[in-house]
Amino acid sequence: MNQTQIDELRAQSVPAFQHLIDGKHVPASDGQVMDIISPIDGQVLTTTAKGTKTDMDAAIASARAAFEDGRWAGQPPAARKKVMLKWADLIEANALELAVLGVRDNGTEIGMALKAEPGSAAATIRYYAEALDKVYGEVAPTSSDVLGMIHKEPVGVVGAIIPWNFPMMIGAWKLGPALAMGNSVVLKPAETASLSLMRMCDLALEAGLPSGVLNAVTGEGAVVGETLGLSMDVDVLVFTGSGGTGRRLMEYAARSNMKRVYLELGGKSPNIIFADAPNLDEAAKVAAGGIFRNAGQVCVAGSRLLVEASIHDEFVAAVAKAAEGMRVGDPLKVDTHIGAVNSEIQLNANLGFVETAKSEGGHVVTGGERILKETGGYYMAPTIVTGVDQNATLAQKEVFGPVLGVTPFTSDAEAIQIANSTVYGLAGGVWTSNLSRAHRMIRGVRTGVMHVNTYGGPDVTVPLGGVGQSGNGADKSLHAIDKYVNLKTAWIKL
Ligand code: ADP
Repeated sequence: MNQTQIDELRAQSVPAFQHLIDGKHVPASDGQVMDIISPIDGQVLTTTAKGTKTDMDAAIASARAAFEDGRWAGQPPAARKKVMLKWADLIEANALELAVLGVRDNGTEIGMALKAEPGSAAATIRYYAEALDKVYGEVAPTSSDVLGMIHKEPVGVVGAIIPWNFPMMIGAWKLGPALAMGNSVVLKPAETASLSLMRMCDLALEAGLPSGVLNAVTGEGAVVGETLGLSMDVDVLVFTGSGGTGRRLMEYAARSNMKRVYLELGGKSPNIIFADAPNLDEAAKVAAGGIFRNAGQVCVAGSRLLVEASIHDEFVAAVAKAAEGMRVGDPLKVDTHIGAVNSEIQLNANLGFVETAKSEGGHVVTGGERILKETGGYYMAPTIVTGVDQNATLAQKEVFGPVLGVTPFTSDAEAIQIANSTVYGLAGGVWTSNLSRAHRMIRGVRTGVMHVNTYGGPDVTVPLGGVGQSGNGADKSLHAIDKYVNLKTAWIKL
């Protein structure tokens, strides 16, 4: 990463973005646009098309036509693989440009953005490209006078609704397996962070993906997202975002064609620190990184710190020291540890959570306020609140900001009980040198992913998905492919 190159890229003006429909860039049907505000300085960066129902209907129709005529699904797997591998190469070749563009509308610090966005997106697309010609059907163990076969067929048109925290990475988690299996996709990026993902879609076409197989429509969730959710012509809906929107998508499915809906929602993930952790200093630094990187806008963020009572004060002091050592500021500076909060609305919501925590008996050890206001950007100091009761708002509701709540515990059983006391179940961590205890925690804490003596970092080879109100249907790994295929039985009398 080179600061001069980054500065050159940020000096470039960003053109107005349009939809990608049927292989062409097109404006909204009524010509309307939305301002894209950069969280770095609060200034208008560019505009995107403000999609209408007509635009979304056109994108869905294009995806349906592309699927029905087999221009992608009908290609030999080796041909699809070649296109997807080329796409991954193009993402990698343009990584810095994509990362800087993405940071300019979403605010993630560039160090993390470069790795987690184009880096991870390219790896994901490549993983599913390599997997696509290794997905076999099955022959059933029938009696000798019949042949029972199970075919795996693409579902048809996939609608994918993407959030603003990691648009390229999360976009690739859906696009990789969906396109690999031969489906067509209609993508709906988030209002406030769409630019890098839209560029990534252009690169797919440059790599040879036929027109119409991948369409992307920008605009408001309540307009174009709803149209996608209610469509009679979308077969599967995949989503990452808030629980409220997830609930709506299930309603849309029920009110329309009962399409399958897969949701990756929020979390309130417990990071559990035992006194016998192998290295408490390391645990403190990783705990701070696990909640404060990307300003806490990470679905798996370890937002609840459960600390064994005997080390509570010293451990909290170590996490506070680590937090205070993290540089908050311009996300396009290579030495920034924590970038901008994505929007002013989100920043105010974060600050509201801190006020509520205080009114419920919490004590702010560090942070708790907006900083660098003079830049015009949306920055918040990493915040640690102790004395958080397991039933307090800060222990129960997802903030999606750089706010860590600390709760002490005195036994393994109590740690598990507190860990499981929310409606969520996305991620968790445990720090201990005791192997049996680590395994008991893995079994006892209800989550989709449990870290041991680390936090964060699982790659594309393993699933990420929640239990409870954190969602259903994991992204990543070969298991994700199941969401994008139908099983068809052929029963043949011999
Ligand atoms: P967040 O609170 O993280 O922004 P949202 O669930 O509101 O989470 O947003 C995630 C994605 O869902 C965005 O692309 C947004 O436009 C979309 N979205 C929001 N509301 C709706 C809706 N009513 N129908 C469909 N999509 C929506």
